[in-house]
Amino acid sequence: MTMKKTRQVLESEAETKERTKYGKVTKDVRPHTSDMWLRELILALTSALMLLVNLIFLIRHFKLSYSAYVLPCFFLGLLTADFQSAFIHWVVDTYFSSETPILGPAIVRPFRLHHFAPTQITYNDYLRTYGDAAVFTTPHLLFTMWILCFYSLESKFVYFLVLWIFSYSLVGYGVNQFHQWAHTHGRPIPAAAEFLQKLGLILPKDHHRKHHTPPHDCNYCIVAGLVDGPLEAINFWRRLENVVESVTGVKPRIHTTVKT
Ligand SMILES: [Zn+2]
Ligand SMILES: [Zn+2]
Repeated sequence: MTMKKTRQVLESEAETKERTKYGKVTKDVRPHTSDMWLRELILALTSALMLLVNLIFLIRHFKLSYSAYVLPCFFLGLLTADFQSAFIHWVVDTYFSSETPILGPAIVRPFRLHHFAPTQITYNDYLRTYGDAAVFTTPHLLFTMWILCFYSLESKFVYFLVLWIFSYSLVGYGVNQFHQWAHTHGRPIPAAAEFLQKLGLILPKDHHRKHHTPPHDCNYCIVAGLVDGPLEAINFWRRLENVVESVTGVKPRIHTTVKT
């Protein structure tokens, strides 16, 4: 007797309608109201300004004895941002629906639409690209601003804490841009971006393509994809889904059916 495992995405009726309607559309179909435009502008500028303030403080308090630790700390920031991108992506791909209040239209729907029409995001303007990402970097950066107000960067611990949060906020600020470049085909992307993709320091196209194969249940990282390998090797996301189900009773929307 042979057992065959099939994993299948369960989608709401409204999501099925959207997939049928927008599946072949290449432009951004999310309405861009003046409210959203203003919110994205404020978030993008606030995050950029806070990143700049962090950088100025880090440069002013830099000591030669720190040199050997700066790159590893920055790399740790990259890995943290990579994991954070995967975690948020897994949550919205696995739970909730486009109709969930607040979260649905704000984040679940764009991720689900992205599975149907992956190249759409390459038509997003700079404001949407950086404004959306800033929703996730602003809280971390507000925390570093609080540290800068009340603690001295003369302390080695405080310096590297700020450098770590600065690094992952800086990389996180670019997450949508890196994701766009991973989907840009037939149009040039900056040579530096292509170089970083080849090094695997920002999301490589081939690596991310695996996520776009239904049921979209692996390689969730959209910053660099560096932590995908280790996470997949230990079956991290399926184990986490089991934990969530056993604690809350909530099932993932991707179901495994076993046929004999
Ligand atoms: Zn996805
Ligand atoms: Zn994608």
